[in-house]
Amino acid sequence: MKTGKLDTAPHCPTCDKTLDGFTSFEEHSPGPEDITVCCYCGEVLQFTEEMALEKISDEVMAELDPECRDSLMLAKNAAALYGAVSNSIKS
Ligand SMILES: [Zn+2]
Repeated sequence: MKTGKLDTAPHCPTCDKTLDGFTSFEEHSPGPEDITVCCYCGEVLQFTEEMALEKISDEVMAELDPECRDSLMLAKNAAALYGAVSNSIKS
């Protein structure tokens, strides 16, 4: 695992939160075309050439190997759970 901060401070296109921190499954910093999950809303996202974030396309999702897709779904579910927990603490 590797964690760090992105200088580009991209925004999630779905929930508009700033996603400037990252946690990687491998010893790897995010780069263009890398895939990530928004920790606030669980959206599956892909970095553009400019290191902005866009929602992953169905074509890219379909090309991922099953193991990678499983990891993304786990991360997505964890984010959804985190969102539900933090919402219930706030209310
Ligand atoms: Zn989001």
